[in-house]
Amino acid sequence: MDYKSEMKQLRDILNEAGYRYYVLDDPAMDDYDYDRLLRKLEELEAAHPEEVTPDSPTQRVGGEALESFQQVVHPVPLESLQDVFSPEEVEEFAQRMMETLETVEYSVEPKVDGLSVALEYRNGLFVQGATRGDGQVGEDVTENLRTIKSIPMTLPDKLPRLIVRGEVFMPKNVFHKLNRQREENGEPLFANPRNAAAGSLRQLDPKVCAKRLLDIRVFNLQLAEGKAFSTHGETIRYIASQGFQTIPHKLLGTAEEVNGEIFRLGENREDLPFDMDGAVVKLNSLQDRAIIGSTAKCPRWAIAYKYPPEQKPSRVLDIVVQVGRTGVLTPKVVVEPVRLAGTTVTNATLHNQDFIDEKDIRIGDTVVLQKAGEIIPEVVEVLRELRPEGTEPYHLPANCPVCGAPVVRDEDGAAIRCTGAECPAQLHRNITHFASRDAMDIDGMGPAVIGQLIDKGLVKTPADLYFLTIEQLADLERMGKKSAQNAVNAIAASKERGLERLLYALGIRQVGQKAGKVLAAYFGTFDALNQATVEELTAIDDVGGITAAYIREWLDSPQSQHLIGRLREAGVGMEAVKQVSGQQFKGMTFVLTGALERFTREEAAALIEGRGGKASGSVSKKTAYVVAGENAGSKLRKANELGIPVLTEDEFAAMLEQ
Ligand code: AMP
Repeated sequence: MDYKSEMKQLRDILNEAGYRYYVLDDPAMDDYDYDRLLRKLEELEAAHPEEVTPDSPTQRVGGEALESFQQVVHPVPLESLQDVFSPEEVEEFAQRMMETLETVEYSVEPKVDGLSVALEYRNGLFVQGATRGDGQVGEDVTENLRTIKSIPMTLPDKLPRLIVRGEVFMPKNVFHKLNRQREENGEPLFANPRNAAAGSLRQLDPKVCAKRLLDIRVFNLQLAEGKAFSTHGETIRYIASQGFQTIPHKLLGTAEEVNGEIFRLGENREDLPFDMDGAVVKLNSLQDRAIIGSTAKCPRWAIAYKYPPEQKPSRVLDIVVQVGRTGVLTPKVVVEPVRLAGTTVTNATLHNQDFIDEKDIRIGDTVVLQKAGEIIPEVVEVLRELRPEGTEPYHLPANCPVCGAPVVRDEDGAAIRCTGAECPAQLHRNITHFASRDAMDIDGMGPAVIGQLIDKGLVKTPADLYFLTIEQLADLERMGKKSAQNAVNAIAASKERGLERLLYALGIRQVGQKAGKVLAAYFGTFDALNQATVEELTAIDDVGGITAAYIREWLDSPQSQHLIGRLREAGVGMEAVKQVSGQQFKGMTFVLTGALERFTREEAAALIEGRGGKASGSVSKKTAYVVAGENAGSKLRKANELGIPVLTEDEFAAMLEQ
C-alpha cells in the first residue's frame, strides 16, 4: 500500500476508535494498540508533512499558541434563556404555550453548566468553533476545540454547511484532580468546574487547553443546509448520528409531567459527569417554536428552571481557627458530615468574628448549610429552636492557636491577625508564597516539600532555601537525587527574578504583584527603597498611605533586615530587572522558539517585556524578530517563509546588552 493510502487508513481506524471511546463510551481498541497506530501515523506525517490533514487525530494535541482570538459573527445567534425558579412558573409557561397552540409537546433536558459554543462544518469537515460571546459575536477558539476528543473532525454526511451548538464543560473528576494539583503547586484554585472550563477554553496556547481534558454535549442544531426537520427530537437524533455526544432529552405532554421530570433530574444530578445548573424546557415542534417566536434575547418557547441551592442542616461539632499566610485568623465550623450538592461537607467557613456575632453561631448549634455554585459551603442560618442548653457565644481566641502570640484586630477591617513574626503557620504559607510561580517561581518547591523542610527544621525563613544542599533535599520523601539536583538548580535560578518579584515574594502586607512592580520601577534597588520615608512612599502613584506605612513597618523590623541580609548573602538579586533597560524594544514583537541555553522562555520573555517589547507564541507578519534556539521547528520555517529576521541566542543576548 502506498503511504497516502496507509495514512488515510490509519486516520480512519484511529478516528473510529476515538469515536467509540470518547462519544459512545464503549472502547473498541486497547490503549496500547491505539498508541502504537498513532505513533505510526505520526511517523508517516513527519516524513510527509504535506499530507497532514485537519481531521488527523494528531492535530488534536494542540497546535501553536495564538496572539489573540479573532472575532466570529454567528450566522444564527446563540440565544440566552429565560430563567424560572418554581414549579408554578413552569405551569405559567405551559399556560402561555397553550393559549396559542392546540397541542403541546415539551422536551425536558439537563442544563449543562459550562460554556456555549457553536461548531461549524463545511462539506463534513470541522472548520470553525466559536464561543457564544454576546450571542451575536463570539471568539474563534477552533484550535482549543480541536483538543476536545468527543468533537468529530469529520462527519459522515457532507452537508455544504452545518452548525451545531453545545456546552463545553470540565468533567467533575477532571476538575477535582486539577484543583488538587494546583493546590500542591501553590496555585490559585478554580472556584468551580465552570470557571475551570472557561479558563481553559480561553487559553491562547491550545496545548494548555488539551491538558484540561474538556468535554462537550451538543444540544441544538443551529443550521443544516439541505436538510429539513420538524421536531427537536429529530434534530438531536440526526446530530447523534453524525458522531456527536448529545444532551439526553425527554418528551412530555403536560406541565405536571414536566415538573416531575425536572424533579427527577435534580435528584439524579450527582450521577452526571458534568455540573447541572438547571433544567431546560423547550417546545419540541420546530413549527410551534416559529409561531411562538423570540424576544430580542431569549426564545419565548423555552425556559430554564433553576434549582435552588441545596441546603441541609447539620450540627456544629466544633469551631476551629486557621492562621493564614498574612497571619489572619479564619474561623471554621466543623459539622457532622452531610451530603450536599454532590460532595460530603464536613466544615464551612465563618469568615470572621463579625459573621459569627451577626448569626450568633455556637458550638452545639444546628446550622443550615448551602453550596451556591461555589465549592466552599457556607452557613445560611442557625436553627435557634434546636439550640441545646448551656451553649455560649463564640469568641476568637486572644492568642494565635499556632504560635501563642497575641492577636490584634485590624483597624480598617474585620480581620483578626496573629502578631507572631515567627509563627509556624505563617512560615509555611510565607515560604510557599515566596516560592510560588508569580513570586520567585521555584519549580518543585510546592507546599508538600516545604512542609517537610520546615518539619525537619531545615528552613525557618525563605532565605534558608538558598542554603539547602542536594543531600538535604535528597533525604526528603519522594525526592531522589535527580529531583534534588533539579530543586537546587531551580532555587539558584530564582536568584535572578529581580526586585519586583522579590518584593511581592516577601509577603509585605498590601504589596501584591502590582505594588512590587511599581516600587521596583521607582526605586530600582532594594537599598534605595530601604531609605524611603513614609511620605516619600505615599507620594508614589498607586501607593496609598496605609500601604506606605506597612512597607515602612516591615522594613523597620529587625527580622526583616536579618532576612534581607541573608538573601543578599545567598546572592539573591535586589535590583529591578527593568531598571537596567530602557524601551529599546518598544512596539516590537519577538517569538521565541527552540531550546535556549541561557534563559528559560519565561526569563527571555521577561527581558523582552522589560524593554518595552512583547513576546508572542506565533509568528506573523507583525513579528519583529524570531529568536531560534536548538531544534527550532515550524516557527523558524514560518519566519523564513515570511522573511522575518531570525536571531541566534548569542545575537539576542548581544541585543539585550545594547
Ligand atoms: P443562561 O446562560 O443562564 O442564559 O442559560 C442559557 C444557556 O444555557 C445557554 O446559553 C446554553 O449555553 C446553556 N445550556 C446548557 N444546557 C442546555 C440545554 N440542554 N439546552 C439549552 N441551553 C443549554
